[in-house]
Amino acid sequence: MARVYNWQIGREMSYWYGEARPKRQFAAVFDTNKCIACQTCTLACKTTWTSGRGQEYMFWNNVESKPYGAYPIAYDSRIMELLGPQTWEGERYEGRTIFEAAPAGERLLGYHPETADYAHPNLGEDEIAGSVDGGMSIDLLHPVWMFYLARICNHCTYPACLAACPRGAIYKRQEDGIVLIDQKNCRGYRECVRACPYKKTFFNSRTLVSEKCIGCFPLGENDTQPRCFTECIGKIRIRGWINKPSEAREDNPIDYLVHIKKVALPLMPQLGLEPNVYYIPPVHVPEAFLVQLFGPGSRRAVETYRRANEKNSKLAALINLFGCTSHVVPRFEAKDGYVSALSDKGEKIVTAPVREAVVVRTAFDARYGVPRSNIT
Ligand code: SF4
Ligand code: SF4
Repeated sequence: MARVYNWQIGREMSYWYGEARPKRQFAAVFDTNKCIACQTCTLACKTTWTSGRGQEYMFWNNVESKPYGAYPIAYDSRIMELLGPQTWEGERYEGRTIFEAAPAGERLLGYHPETADYAHPNLGEDEIAGSVDGGMSIDLLHPVWMFYLARICNHCTYPACLAACPRGAIYKRQEDGIVLIDQKNCRGYRECVRACPYKKTFFNSRTLVSEKCIGCFPLGENDTQPRCFTECIGKIRIRGWINKPSEAREDNPIDYLVHIKKVALPLMPQLGLEPNVYYIPPVHVPEAFLVQLFGPGSRRAVETYRRANEKNSKLAALINLFGCTSHVVPRFEAKDGYVSALSDKGEKIVTAPVREAVVVRTAFDARYGVPRSNIT
């Protein structure tokens, strides 16, 4: 095993291959506070990529209700249970990653889901955690909670799927860091399915090879965001590029959210894959649960997000830019009450007001002699 640096756990770790970061790394931020679990993203992906035979159970994009929802069933709690204690000292992870916890003779710690684990994509949907004994309508301090977690492949910097493939059929593209399975090389051993702790590779029982989210790379090659992003009803997503923390840029939206404001966090960073989809954590969820899911920066992220409107107009402006363009957003600027997505060359892609104007119409329109409502 090689020694590589993983900034998300604040230390070096063991990985099957040496550190080889791509020229540019696909990255995204999802704001969990905006997701309404409409599943439009899920269907946009399904109708684009996985509507064929053998792909019926595949959800390259899925949205699960936390804490009880997970697809396949309990993928997150199972790998965390197998891994054992996951302790942090500040920003440094002191436990073992799945590569460091590999059983003798194996490349990493993983498990094969049962077929039945894929049978219930909506299990746990809208189920709440906590007790309502105290009378929910009287106690307004959120004794109960749940939230929606949208998931795609994380196009990890240290992909477990890639490390586990004995055929070398999985590769990470130099130009965008997207992780792909070479369908001609794959022999369907399913080591990637066993390895990915996020369970984002799937075995096709008709073609007998494995498949996974391709980050809509044909769209990306034309500077367009993936289908699950452009169709998102809640405007929770933004796609761009991420730099290493030491090279973070103020005008790069992903760098700004992840490295500078630290308001967007990776999913289960303790596993050691350096995933490249980041989440703004929900503001109403117990901290212990957030730390388990998003790492030790959760409390600070929630506090920063809560104060975005009062203290940091640039952050509020950027959050408003989510879902405003189908273009990939390499850069942005916020000034004079407007926020713009910019191309690599600094050209304006789209401009949006940070605050939409509110127009209150009178209940009766005297000009046309009709009653109006303000509903639409
Ligand atoms: S999320 Fe899973 S499938 Fe995607 S790159 Fe990481 S290890 Fe591979
Ligand atoms: S389309 Fe957007 S709002 Fe709807 S479920 Fe997907 S991520 Fe959530």
